[in-house]
Amino acid sequence: LKIGTLNCARVAGEMEIEKGIAAAGKPIVDLHGIDDGLIQKIVYDALVWSSLHGLVVGDRNDQRSGKLPGVGMVHAPIALLPTSFPESHWKQACELAPIFNELIDRVSLDGKFLQDSLARTKKVDAFTSRLLDIHSKILEMNKKEEIRLGLHRSDYMLDEKTKLLLQIEFNTISSSFAGLGCLVTDLHRTLLSDYGEDLGLDSKRIPGNTATGQFAEALAKAWTEYNNPRLTFKEYTLMVLVFLQPLKLKNAICMTSIGFLGITYNVKTIRKTLTEIDSEGQLLPDGTFLVYVSSYYCIECGQAVAVVYFRAGYAPTDYPSESEWRARLLMEQSSAIKCPSISYHLAGTKKIQQELAKPNVLERFLESKEDIAKLRKCFAGLWSLVDSEITKKAIEKPELFVMKPQREGGVENRVFGPTSGNNIYGDDVKETLLRLQKEGSEEDAAYILMQRIFPAASPTFLIRDGICHKDHAISELGVYSAYLRNKESVIMNDQCGYLMRTKVSSSNEGGVAAGFAVLDSIYLT
Ligand code: ADP
Ligand code: MG
Ligand code: MG
Repeated sequence: LKIGTLNCARVAGEMEIEKGIAAAGKPIVDLHGIDDGLIQKIVYDALVWSSLHGLVVGDRNDQRSGKLPGVGMVHAPIALLPTSFPESHWKQACELAPIFNELIDRVSLDGKFLQDSLARTKKVDAFTSRLLDIHSKILEMNKKEEIRLGLHRSDYMLDEKTKLLLQIEFNTISSSFAGLGCLVTDLHRTLLSDYGEDLGLDSKRIPGNTATGQFAEALAKAWTEYNNPRLTFKEYTLMVLVFLQPLKLKNAICMTSIGFLGITYNVKTIRKTLTEIDSEGQLLPDGTFLVYVSSYYCIECGQAVAVVYFRAGYAPTDYPSESEWRARLLMEQSSAIKCPSISYHLAGTKKIQQELAKPNVLERFLESKEDIAKLRKCFAGLWSLVDSEITKKAIEKPELFVMKPQREGGVENRVFGPTSGNNIYGDDVKETLLRLQKEGSEEDAAYILMQRIFPAASPTFLIRDGICHKDHAISELGVYSAYLRNKESVIMNDQCGYLMRTKVSSSNEGGVAAGFAVLDSIYLT
């Protein structure tokens, strides 16, 4: 911990920021009025707490980070205090979780809808095309996933002008940060217990966060549902966590929480990369997925796998060769429960989000008019680039739009380092649209257009690398949810905790301030 450098950096233009407070979002306390000494004390405590409780990430300043476990870690980038969030919108987001779970499940069963909606994208987006190929093979096999497990995160921003809670996206693969999100909640609750009186804040206004426990419960329940007659002893059934690199800390630490599966539920887990699965995995004729592992009892044992959890596999770079694609197909063809299945994965693409927002599409999947109305209320404007009126408008006023390719993980990268995201903003929207028009290619099918949401910005203390900065920031609330179903029986359909991410408002996804997003929690107002 860089306690030596601990100070509250005065950012340029701070006075301008202070003046803007009243007009923008509501800070939970008057940050201007807080004594600097008190802030430093809270920062110090926050950093000690983080290191003691594993609220840490790989330190990109340490070359050994990610190479040796337990070496080269630093506290996670965090907001010093929780960010205010209206209780009514929080309740709304929680209420939406089981409805989205059900919707995604139904969409996943409609193979034709997925293939048709993504047919144009397939032609120009090689990655989506490979996913669709796997999906087609599964459809040809007429294979039914009877046990379906989804561990999702639906992300929202609160639009300042309309006061509407609008969905950014729905994640169905590698919904990250559940573990760290819970820890940030605990940290903030602890800080408010200790300093709440000084700050005039009540720690109970921070909702409890049990995302990790509930995700572990869902995985364990799925493991119980998996009933393979080949397995004489349940303890031989494993859960495989699919990773990019065995030691890639950003993924590993996110999933440590799942580690307690073994302690609480007696489920054995192993970690494998897609590349390893290609050489160590086997598909038996009856659909059983075996992974060869060395154990105390035998040098090389084929162990049957009940559940496969993907903590990687959502980005083109996760598939550097044919090996990784073979591994993905092998697991998909097996009877193991995949979280997510290829259908769930596709149902979570941005293109499908945009298709679902078209008139009368939700009605194809859901019966309840009330549920449909609730979902629609949180949909922002979403369009395909085929809509020439919208593209014209986006060229005229690009600042009102975001252009999105079919990619995942933009924000996650930003929390861990200054990499740019995948989306296109501002003048780049205009330039890209004009280029696509000029070229007249079908590349437009790789993108969707989305209404840009403008959340209120408020002054926030953000801590990174042991240093506390004050800046104007905006937030995005992610609500986790779990869905488990076996044939007609829905075993779990729950909202499961949350994650607030707060970023400096001057950054889009990329830009100069990129990399400055922090993990946060919410203070209900
Ligand atoms: P990813 O799957 O890469 O996380 P997102 O759709 O979540 O893709 O976009 C990444 C980030 O871009 C979001 O976390 C949010 O900060 C920003 N963003 C996305 N859509 C919008 C939007 N419509 N308005 C404002 N910001 C957005
Ligand atoms: Mg995403
Ligand atoms: Mg996102």
